[in-house]
Amino acid sequence: MEKIANYINGQWLAPTSGKYLDNINPATGEVYSLIPDSDASDVQLAVDAARAAFPGWSTLLAEKRHAVLARLADLIDRDADALAMAECIDQGKPVKLAKNMDIYRAAANIRFYATASMHVASEAHATGAEAINYTLRTPVGVAGCISPWNLPLYLFTWKIAPALAVGCTVVAKPSELTPMTAYLFTRLCREAGLPDGVLNVVQGLGPKVGQAIVDHPDIPAISFTGGTVTGKKIMSSAGPMLKKLSLELGGKNPNIVFADADFDNAVATSISSSFTNQGEICLCGSRIFVERALFDRFVKAFVEKTKELVVGDPLDEKTRIGALVSEGHMNKVLSYIELARKEGGTLLTGGKRVTVPGRCANGFFIEPTVVVGLPQECRTNQEEIFGPVVTIMPFDTEDEVIGLANATTYGLSATVWTTHLTRAHRVAARLKSGIIWINCWLYRDLRTPFGGMKQSGVGREGGWEAMRFFTEAKNVCVRL
Ligand code: NAD
Repeated sequence: MEKIANYINGQWLAPTSGKYLDNINPATGEVYSLIPDSDASDVQLAVDAARAAFPGWSTLLAEKRHAVLARLADLIDRDADALAMAECIDQGKPVKLAKNMDIYRAAANIRFYATASMHVASEAHATGAEAINYTLRTPVGVAGCISPWNLPLYLFTWKIAPALAVGCTVVAKPSELTPMTAYLFTRLCREAGLPDGVLNVVQGLGPKVGQAIVDHPDIPAISFTGGTVTGKKIMSSAGPMLKKLSLELGGKNPNIVFADADFDNAVATSISSSFTNQGEICLCGSRIFVERALFDRFVKAFVEKTKELVVGDPLDEKTRIGALVSEGHMNKVLSYIELARKEGGTLLTGGKRVTVPGRCANGFFIEPTVVVGLPQECRTNQEEIFGPVVTIMPFDTEDEVIGLANATTYGLSATVWTTHLTRAHRVAARLKSGIIWINCWLYRDLRTPFGGMKQSGVGREGGWEAMRFFTEAKNVCVRL
């Protein structure tokens, strides 16, 4: 059985404890590889390596950092099929989606920040004729990057790329549920010529490895993507140490459909925004609000299309809904479906675990599920389910739907469907979410700020925002 290794100082190492965790293929329920059960001593080795590599990497000319990172992006493209297959086996998502979304974006992330490293600039401020100020932006040092399981290599690279581009060295931890592609990525780092110690990957459990990264006094900045509960825990540990924190957390995103929407586009894209990646995307629109005049027509079309989605073997090209990431997560989603029933919801389709015949008979599959008849304030409509489950609710006025959309503790993203130009902008301005999509979903320009309000996070990633996060600004004032 393949043993995944940590990557520290350019070497593939076993965990110091010698212990391993099972890595399960969620489509089959079988253990297929072993994950290092690392601890604080492995994190210490990684920090030592990252500190030693920092002076060299941080002072390298940007064009040299660019060259290494650009090569890395090309190598991801070269190995896209193998990486997509590995992501599919590790995470449960359809292999086609893994290639077109996850691996495509992983290369795009690295390439985007490779080029950004050549263009990033700092500011100068002339104070009349009396003084000139210039701002230096220097890399913070060793950055800690902790990523989740839903988009494994996609979000792992989204964090490490800006850190590396500005000259930080990195200690990174992928999720213990999806360690494989970060491990394979380390081989590409070596091939691309990334110097030893610049990127270190420590695999293992959150409370052991993740917490050791958060607590380490020589890691001044933590970039974290994951659940809100974990984000709060990280903030309570890192806050007293006055570390820089970027937290990208959960969501309960509204998808608002006005009666004048482009109907076919709204229905088709809402299917994607509800069920892509088994609904395991923080940006999925899990609460759909439809203007009453369109409600029945929308629900009918949406349910029909939901029933057409093929749940099945992630290796099958026809599959649209693969396996959920783990048995525990599948049971959590099923318990929310049960809760929706108890709270008085009506299931129009879905609601059950699916047994996929053949090699996937023991996999963790759930039917895409559509619920109506629930009030906004119930738990089903307030808590993040993070699975293939959506609720649909009618509304009558613009004011009402804005109130409903904003009535959760989260504020990550929102989608608005309307052909009424001024209404689109008016509603966008009043929604309390960090990302608003009008007549589209998950349409990304990597230069734009990415992140959430309220309990969906602190700080923004993307573009210069992430590069600023991984640097310290120092103003120098020269009296003329
Ligand atoms: P999680 O919080 O359980 O784990 C995320 C990462 O944190 C994992 O690597 C985990 O090992 C680590 N971790 C756990 N405990 C830790 C601790 N005490 N200290 C440090 N690290 C620790 O989240 P998850 O279940 O892997 O991911 C799903 C969640 O992520 C959902 O809530 C989803 O909305 C959110 N998410 C948010 C975004 C975003 O951009 N806002 C993107 C993707 C996922």
